[in-house]
Amino acid sequence: MLFGRKHKNPIKIADKGVVEWKYTTCGYCSTGCSIEVGLDRSGAAVASRGAAGADVNRGKLCIKGIFEHELFESAGRGSVPLMRRSRLDAFAETDWDSALDHVGAEIKRIQAAHGRDSFAIVSTGQIMTEEFYTLGKLARGAIGTNNYCGNTTLCMASAVSGYKRSFGSDGPPGCYEDFEHTECLMAFGSNLPEQHPIIFWRLKMALEQRKFPVIVVDPRVTMFAQMADMHLPITPGTDVVLLNALAHVILKEGLADQAYIDAHTNGAEAFAALVAQYDPVSASKICGIDEDTIRNVARLYAKAGAAMTIWTMGINQSTHGSDGVVAINNLNLITGNIGKPGSTSLSITGQANAMGTREWGSTTGLPGYRYLEKDTDRQEVADFWGIDAEFFPRQRGLAMTDILPAIETGQIKGLWLVATNPMTSMPNTARIRKTLEKLEFLVVQDAYRDVETNEYSHVYLPAAVWAEKEGVFTNTERRVNLVRNVQKPHGDSKPDFWIFNQIAKRFATERKIPSFPETTEGAFEEMKALSKGRMLDYSGMSYAMLEQQKGVQWPCTEGAASGTQRLYADGKFQYDDGRAKLIPLPYVENNEVPCDDYPFWLNSGRVVEHFHTRTRTGKMGNLNKFSPTPYMEMNPDAAKPLGIAHGSYARLTTRRGDAVVMVQLTQRVPRDMVFIPFHFHECVNRLSLGLLDPHSRQPAYKQCAVRIEPAPDQHAAAVHNVAARAY
Ligand code: SF4
Repeated sequence: MLFGRKHKNPIKIADKGVVEWKYTTCGYCSTGCSIEVGLDRSGAAVASRGAAGADVNRGKLCIKGIFEHELFESAGRGSVPLMRRSRLDAFAETDWDSALDHVGAEIKRIQAAHGRDSFAIVSTGQIMTEEFYTLGKLARGAIGTNNYCGNTTLCMASAVSGYKRSFGSDGPPGCYEDFEHTECLMAFGSNLPEQHPIIFWRLKMALEQRKFPVIVVDPRVTMFAQMADMHLPITPGTDVVLLNALAHVILKEGLADQAYIDAHTNGAEAFAALVAQYDPVSASKICGIDEDTIRNVARLYAKAGAAMTIWTMGINQSTHGSDGVVAINNLNLITGNIGKPGSTSLSITGQANAMGTREWGSTTGLPGYRYLEKDTDRQEVADFWGIDAEFFPRQRGLAMTDILPAIETGQIKGLWLVATNPMTSMPNTARIRKTLEKLEFLVVQDAYRDVETNEYSHVYLPAAVWAEKEGVFTNTERRVNLVRNVQKPHGDSKPDFWIFNQIAKRFATERKIPSFPETTEGAFEEMKALSKGRMLDYSGMSYAMLEQQKGVQWPCTEGAASGTQRLYADGKFQYDDGRAKLIPLPYVENNEVPCDDYPFWLNSGRVVEHFHTRTRTGKMGNLNKFSPTPYMEMNPDAAKPLGIAHGSYARLTTRRGDAVVMVQLTQRVPRDMVFIPFHFHECVNRLSLGLLDPHSRQPAYKQCAVRIEPAPDQHAAAVHNVAARAY
């Protein structure tokens, strides 16, 4: 008997009439998949496929990549610049020169009246690295505001901060190939199959070749937890306690790599003294993982020939996010698991080019991982740009999450948002709305004119998207990938690179400013020169090499045939003495926790169909149809006494606001927790508190307390939401 589609209804792939496939790189997440876009006879993009021979994705794409060609002509794109006197007026279309002149004049007016730092810029993790470099040059070398940051504060700031504290520099040390060598993998707060499906596929391929234990630490029984050998359902926000307890067992039982600790680290004594306080019995009372499991995991990890830890937002989006990253690094340093095949601390990055802005965006310092606080770094960049080093601020300014409160207090009067949508992405939506309303001047530069934050802008600049332009992205494993230009920009939208260059011209009359190359390849050559001899050396790369090798990992030194898979293979770190730091991490409980009035934890995260605030994926029929509405996962045992049924609606209330969502009953969440995807506007961030990590300033999106009640009248619920929004 014959079974299967092969014999009955073979899958037929419709002929889209592709006459040419063009190489580029996916613009959603930071996995860095090489993609080919199919063009028909008219030049329209009609199909996408994974590029064969690309080491990252080996011909595969996830559902977002498969439909990415639909982006070019998706709904809501902006095609001409718009201006208005106040946010209560209607927008009027204008030409580029008028819009850019007005932006330049308003920045100068605000800076003249209130000081240089009263105008802030918040960028993104979405645009090309050359664009980040150019924006950094504009902000640091021409406009001269120190309140310049990126929305990467909302996703990767804790990873950056943790790497810097442990190793002396940002830069993920490992790579995807580590899956093929590791003997134990531990994942913290990462639902890899949904968040990064192609990285998960790489892991699965490695597991099919060779079995090794996978341990998933997550309060929810995620898809990843379901396939793990061990699932540790940790109490939200207590990762540092668990990691301290693992280190406690490893040191106490003599399982540490003492030779590595002695040769390559500082601070071992103080670290040992701190973790001595975190015995498994005491720790289990805080983190919710029983003492025997703590001991078993510690032994398994320390005895593995090679062990690695990956993590995503479960660690980063916490009041202890930076400490969580440092705690992971501590674990890998005491077990000698850095820089060897299968041994690493690998943060799985979010946005396609969050790495590019970290490297070259100058948001936390100067380009090429240089510091504003270091005289030699300041002078090098000033000389290269041909300006006075004294024009640079002495230390970094406010992070994105501090820029918005500074608008509230009147310190900041004007704001330029580049591909950033705080009305959906920031915690506590009601507060953000009032904050944006206070601005004297708001510029929104985005590919979509219907982005929620644009309701509050005075000028809208329509930007080209993804492969409507050319440049590079850096992925999670430090691989620089080329985004080739596939289509012309939509309407009269312009590449961000062009917009930054045009704004720079408006400042050239005020003071001596750096020169700005006319092409992205010209900017790439500047980056190469500035990177020579540094950890993130790009000097051996060229656009042709990036396309031919389908991505090259930095460092890639001049003349090298290719890049470098791992950092710190020689045990030399970026601190002056070449040693990493073991840092003691006392745990301080400072979260909003469930109580009688608000008895549930509220957790949030991603679904595979959507990307961040749905600015793009919310417009794509095939993605939206699989995940069209906000919903909440709730445990049936918790729902029953409240009279809440599967498929009904419920109202969630926190100390900030409320939201109404559809209920999905599932055992995936514990009885005292609910989970809501974070992508939807006017949903989870109406509720979230977002206390900030003291080191990274990243918000704790995943830890706050909520009350739940049935909302049987869906019409009333909808009206309520609209009314709350109007308020
Ligand atoms: Fe694009 Fe990420 Fe999907 Fe790869 S995994 S196709 S990079 S969204």
